[in-house]
Amino acid sequence: MRPKTIKVLNAVYTIDYHDTLELNDEPAYGICDYDKKIISIATGCHELIMRETILHELIHAIDLEYHIDTADDEHVADCYAAAFIKTFADNKGLADYLGIK
Ligand SMILES: [Zn+2]
Repeated sequence: MRPKTIKVLNAVYTIDYHDTLELNDEPAYGICDYDKKIISIATGCHELIMRETILHELIHAIDLEYHIDTADDEHVADCYAAAFIKTFADNKGLADYLGIK
């Protein structure tokens, strides 16, 4: 089931799903609106791309809420999103050990 909200520290981000998205007149898979606390996700792509995009946008939200200060660094968000998905896929018991259900 696709998440409708994601809590990040004390903020709750609403996840909105759209057939297509545009950012600066270019097609986009996802957008994180920091002010409105809305993560928009394009649904017109493969489910795995959607999952990685949600994680990518979540990393932007974590950057902001935890004051990590790499917000808007697309390369960092892409790398962490891909790395977390692959690491948890390659280590099936890790999420349970960490208390992630
Ligand atoms: Zn991004």
